[in-house]
Amino acid sequence: MNILVLNAGSATLKFQVVVTDADRIASDHDARLIRGQIERIGGESVITIRAADGGTRTLTAALRDVRAAVEWLVHFVTSPESGTGLTARGDLQAVGHRVVHGGEQFRHSVAIDEAVLRGIEANVELAPLHNPHNLRGIEAARAALGSGVPQVAVFDTAFHHTLPEHAYLYAIPYPLYRRHKVRRYGFHGTSHRSIAYRWRTLTGRARADVRIVTLHLGNGCSACAIKGGESIDTSMGFTPLEGLVMGTRSGDIDAALLDYIAAKEGLTLPQVEALLNNQSGLLGISGLTNDMRDLLAEAHEHDDRRARLAIDIFCYRARKYVGAYLAAMGGADAIVFAGGVGENSSEIRRRICDGLEWAGLRLDAEENARLVGGREGRISADDATLAAWVVPTDEELLIARDTYRVIAGVETA
Ligand code: ADP
Repeated sequence: MNILVLNAGSATLKFQVVVTDADRIASDHDARLIRGQIERIGGESVITIRAADGGTRTLTAALRDVRAAVEWLVHFVTSPESGTGLTARGDLQAVGHRVVHGGEQFRHSVAIDEAVLRGIEANVELAPLHNPHNLRGIEAARAALGSGVPQVAVFDTAFHHTLPEHAYLYAIPYPLYRRHKVRRYGFHGTSHRSIAYRWRTLTGRARADVRIVTLHLGNGCSACAIKGGESIDTSMGFTPLEGLVMGTRSGDIDAALLDYIAAKEGLTLPQVEALLNNQSGLLGISGLTNDMRDLLAEAHEHDDRRARLAIDIFCYRARKYVGAYLAAMGGADAIVFAGGVGENSSEIRRRICDGLEWAGLRLDAEENARLVGGREGRISADDATLAAWVVPTDEELLIARDTYRVIAGVETA
């Protein structure tokens, strides 16, 4: 089945076309016909395309909104110019969407119908920055391909529906949960699930035997405690702001700071929230950049104090969460790194793991240095009782597989 995978953001549309079905899933032979992203939607958009043979190219087109972007995309991927081999719109047999917030209602991936659309709509107030764009992506795909083509929603929150009450409730008046659904939801669920699935495939374990801490370290960062194959705790909360230090997000802070900063700086509460989301984290501490690669370069080449500080705080917070999750699970078999930073920076991995020797973790320096740029494998020494792994995340593949499974009526593993 040829599946168009879409991840629609405010001005960006990420896409892939994946060929998958039961046999391909079982033999791990899904095929990727094309992937890429459309940026700066609303103006002169920049389209980056990576073909199946790895060749990349950049195009531009004036795309006024997501609908125009999806229409352009569907036309392009079914034209000979794309090299996909697809020749008609009918060759795209289903669409899988990343949807950020499924609230308490959506615990699994679902086929999109009117009721599901209303459900995603109902969660807009929980994810005002994301769900509206995801909805527009769904409407755009329907407009481009017709309502006969099945569409599936894969939620970022769904994997965390197994969090127990003691992990998802904040210690604030309980009626706030009852009345307004104030609780921790967690995000990056598709990524943590993808990493855990790949790890158990690589190690030959059954789902029930998976007891790991996954660290998704990209621009957004989150940790997840996975026990018995299920998420039992995760660092992001009501919104993706909580938890680890991220590119531009503060992660955990004292809630009393909101009012204090507002008063001292003459800001409104929404402005302070924006400051915590967009001007904090690595960018806020360093005053330079949210990009870990550039920060590491600054720290090494110019010994920039605040670049070093930002990296220190980032690694310390991550290690603290690992420790917390080891306690939450009564130990673990492995820590698994993923995301742009986790997959590429052996230095950050080392600095997070430094100081976890008490837990039985010892890195294999050579393997740690070798496994970058999309390589996967174990980076801990043979005798480590707590292992460390690098397992690149593949959210789009999981979205494609879920889309197939929902349409075929088989359980989403
Ligand atoms: P997103 O969360 O937006 O999907 P990614 O997972 O692609 O982001 O991660 C982006 C981050 O990964 C950036 O901070 C980038 O600097 C970092 N990164 C990529 N390559 C390296 C590298 N070789 N060393 C350190 N950081 C890297």
